[in-house]
Amino acid sequence: MVKVEELGNGAYRIPGRTIVGLICIDKECYVIDTGLDDDQGRRALNVVKSLNCKLKAVLNTHSHADHIGGNNFIEKRSGVDIFGPLEEIPYIRNPKLEPVMLYGGSPVPELLSKFFMAKPSNAKPIENVKLPVKLVDLRGHSPGMIGIQTDQVFFVADAYTGINILSKHVIPYAYDTESALKTLEFILDTKGLLYVPFHGEPSEEPEEEIEANISAIKRTKETLLKALKDDLSTCQVISRVLSQLNVKIRDAALYFLYESLLKGYLSWLKRDGLITFKIEFNKIIWTLIKA
Ligand SMILES: [Zn+2]
Repeated sequence: MVKVEELGNGAYRIPGRTIVGLICIDKECYVIDTGLDDDQGRRALNVVKSLNCKLKAVLNTHSHADHIGGNNFIEKRSGVDIFGPLEEIPYIRNPKLEPVMLYGGSPVPELLSKFFMAKPSNAKPIENVKLPVKLVDLRGHSPGMIGIQTDQVFFVADAYTGINILSKHVIPYAYDTESALKTLEFILDTKGLLYVPFHGEPSEEPEEEIEANISAIKRTKETLLKALKDDLSTCQVISRVLSQLNVKIRDAALYFLYESLLKGYLSWLKRDGLITFKIEFNKIIWTLIKA
């Protein structure tokens, strides 16, 4: 029997490595993200069946492999439509783009596991379909991530993670941390909902968790700026920031994830006019802009 937790007002969540959400209205059910793999997809279908509902569609919040991993299974098994944010569609339809994006070229085999590359599915833009839920722009963690909201429940995808997971990873993953920070501040300004992160626990008072995510971003930004008291190559910046934040890289895939994340910080600080780079001996050398 698959465990399912009722959140109220026809909303549910299925616990797992990544949460799978459900919204059921008049016996018609929308699955929100499909977890990491076929197994999580199968479990979602079983839950829909156990609730005596008809599966209407899959709604993807974003294209990360641990959120679209069950799409292919559900699409084949049920034939329902899969919808996702327009900017995420290329990644859902062609999941190799995710490791390509992280690596910045033809990816090493370490990035081709199911944790970074899901099976493809034929997703269509969610903006073009009428749905009985509100779609909320939560970009930053990924290029076009959305949240999905009912009157009472707000599925916030990966806009923030629970404190335990955050302390394990130290730096919250974001494609574009500047936008991710604005998204966190936007969620802090909303009130009166049950907030459901996909790596964490639901809460009506998520302020402490959101603040912890914001602090982790600010700490990373400050550490990076301090590291640049010396001019450093991209590799040196990454190594110095991770060491100072006490991040221990255990495998190559994780290295490329942090590298991509911190390169996003470097772009952000360069856009803000705080740092710049020069090219020296065929290397990019980052340097502080002194006021
Ligand atoms: Zn994600």
